[in-house]
Amino acid sequence: MARYTDSVCKLCRREKQKLFLKGQKCFTEKCPIEVRNYPPGQHGLARRSKISEYGVQLREKQKIKRSYGLLETQFRNYFEKADKQKGRTGENLIKLLERRLDNVVFRLGFASSRKQSRQLIKHRHILVNGKLVDIPAYLLKAGDLIQVKEKSKKLDAIHNSLKRVKDNTYTWLTVDKATLSGTFVQVPERADVPLNANEQLVVELYSK
Ligand code: SF4
Repeated sequence: MARYTDSVCKLCRREKQKLFLKGQKCFTEKCPIEVRNYPPGQHGLARRSKISEYGVQLREKQKIKRSYGLLETQFRNYFEKADKQKGRTGENLIKLLERRLDNVVFRLGFASSRKQSRQLIKHRHILVNGKLVDIPAYLLKAGDLIQVKEKSKKLDAIHNSLKRVKDNTYTWLTVDKATLSGTFVQVPERADVPLNANEQLVVELYSK
C-alpha cells in the first residue's frame, strides 16, 4: 500500500495547524507549528492569502484526511459510506473516522500518534473484547472494551505516551491507566470531537 514518506510536519505547516502526526514532539515546543506557523517552501511566507472556494474545500479535506492518517482512496471510501447513512454526511464521516481502532487507541493515550497506534495494533499488542485485533481500520461499536495485551503492558512506548495524558477528556471514552484498558462508551457527537475542520466543505467538494 502507498504511504506518505515525506516530513509529516510539512503537512501541519501546510494546514497552518497541528495535526498531531509526530508523537511526543507534537506536545513540545519543538513542534514547528510553535516556531514557524506558515506554509513550507521557499515562498511559504509570501504565498497569497486569498484562495479559491475550491482551494478552501480542498484544504479542509486534506486536513481531515491527514489528521486521521488516511490516503485518498481510503478517505473517499469513508465518505461514500457516510453518504449512504442517514443524517448529515459530514457528521457521519467524522463519526466513522472516530470509530477506527487506531484513532481510539491514540485517544485513550496508549500511543502518542495515530501512526504509532497503527504500529501497536499491527504488531498485535491490542485486544478488543478480549480478542486480538490487528486491523487499524477496525470499527468499534458502543460498549467495546479495548485492552493492551498482558505481555505488552511493559512497552515503554505505551507508558511514555500515557505520561502526557492527565485526565481523560473525551466524554465517549473511559480509560483505566492502571490496567491499560478503556471502553468505547458510545459514538461521539460531532461537537464533542476536537477536530478543527469543517467537514461540510468536504461534502461540497465531493458533490462537484
Ligand atoms: Fe510536527 Fe506534530 Fe507539530 Fe505537526 S503537530 S508540526 S506533526 S510536531
